[in-house]
Amino acid sequence: MANAAVTCYVGIGSNLANPLRQAQRAIEALRAIPATRVLAVSPWYGSHPVGGPAGQPDYINGAACLQTRLAPEALLDALQAIEQQQGRERHTRWGARTLDLDLLLYGNQVINSERLVVPHPRLAGRAFVLAPLADIAPRLLLPNGCGVASLLSQVGMAGLWSLDTRNTDA
Ligand code: ATP
Ligand code: MG
Ligand code: MG
Repeated sequence: MANAAVTCYVGIGSNLANPLRQAQRAIEALRAIPATRVLAVSPWYGSHPVGGPAGQPDYINGAACLQTRLAPEALLDALQAIEQQQGRERHTRWGARTLDLDLLLYGNQVINSERLVVPHPRLAGRAFVLAPLADIAPRLLLPNGCGVASLLSQVGMAGLWSLDTRNTDA
């Protein structure tokens, strides 16, 4: 029997090789994941790098809401395959990258496997994740009951700015 459809959220980041183009290509690739639909795409944000080596370029960030019948690790495989297609290389932790696709939430599930931790462990402290997430799901709650909008108001918007390019076709 097919798995039930689950609503998921994916964080999108890029700071190399035309980041906005990378992010937009990533949306097209998300739309092509089997057994998955893209329900919403956030507006894009610019952000200053947080952590990682000094001197890396600013980021483009956004988030997407998916509905999928894939199991969590199968969805992670699909996200990592898209990162690879778009030339992701891992050198230093939090270093510059063409594309980062993080699985932020998978329904209301709490997952702690070797490859996958959900909710994403650094989600609650990151404005560049919370702001686009709150745009597409303002009333969204984490499995622990915390609301994304209230987490965003605690974290603030320092180092983050809205870009004009909007995804109105989600
Ligand atoms: P951060 O996790 O702080 O955002 P990052 O996105 O740069 O850092 P990556 O190099 O993209 O980190 O991923 C490192 C590893 O994290 C991956 O190999 C993956 O197995 C693991 N991982 C654990 N949980 C998740 C998740 N929720 N989404 C994506 N990757 C995850
Ligand atoms: Mg990341
Ligand atoms: Mg990642």
